[in-house]
Amino acid sequence: MSRKVIIAGNWKMNKTAAEGCALVAELKEKLACSCYDQVDIVVCPPFTTLGAVVEAAKGSRIKVGAQNVHWAANGAFTGEISAEMLKTSGVEYVIIGHSERRQYFGETDATVNSRLKAAIAAGLKPIVCIGELLEEREGGLTEKVLTTQIRGGFDGITAEQMAEIVVAYEPVWAIGTGKTATPEIAQETHAHIRKELTAMFGAETAGKVRIQYGGSMKADNARELVAQADIDGGLIGGAALKADSFASLIDEAMGK
Ligand code: PEP
Repeated sequence: MSRKVIIAGNWKMNKTAAEGCALVAELKEKLACSCYDQVDIVVCPPFTTLGAVVEAAKGSRIKVGAQNVHWAANGAFTGEISAEMLKTSGVEYVIIGHSERRQYFGETDATVNSRLKAAIAAGLKPIVCIGELLEEREGGLTEKVLTTQIRGGFDGITAEQMAEIVVAYEPVWAIGTGKTATPEIAQETHAHIRKELTAMFGAETAGKVRIQYGGSMKADNARELVAQADIDGGLIGGAALKADSFASLIDEAMGK
């Protein structure tokens, strides 16, 4: 089963609109070759920068994603952004359930599930993050934790919807730490995720789901990680903040 590689940059709380547009302008030049059509390239700026980046990315192969979405259509939810607001701003993707949202902002599998349903209803393409903490890996609980996150996060999702969802496996101990899961560990864990998706949605659907690796992925390790059978791209933090490092990582992931 061949799945199109997807590389997404999560800018987190970095970049003003001017800085974001400058980064996209550089990326557009570096990624001008039609060879990059083989891969989906996404940047996920902060909310305030989305509109400007959508404009800056127009006419290029760079797609734009948000970093979160609320589950309600509208109403008294101060500080939140709805799926329709994102969609009508030209946003295509949305990250849901990033470990920093789970760790600092009370995100649970239930809220991930609600956000996911709202994103799908609005026609956004979700990137759903799952991953274990260091103590969970050390305690031999990785598979159990991931299974719980998968069952809770994807509860009530149809097979047809699941096939379009991107899953980002991000071991929390590897995010921003410089520690990457070895390609073997990452592959073994991705295979477990696909097995769980198979149990929930069937082999045909599970075979279509793209599973990204995230956690200190950079140009140095992207090639080997993405070469693994069940690794279909990356969700990138630090290395997505500069055009050089993001573009070289994309080249490596494509095996160029
Ligand atoms: C992330 O936050 O999704 C991430 C993978 O960050 P980093 O690449 O910096 O580890």
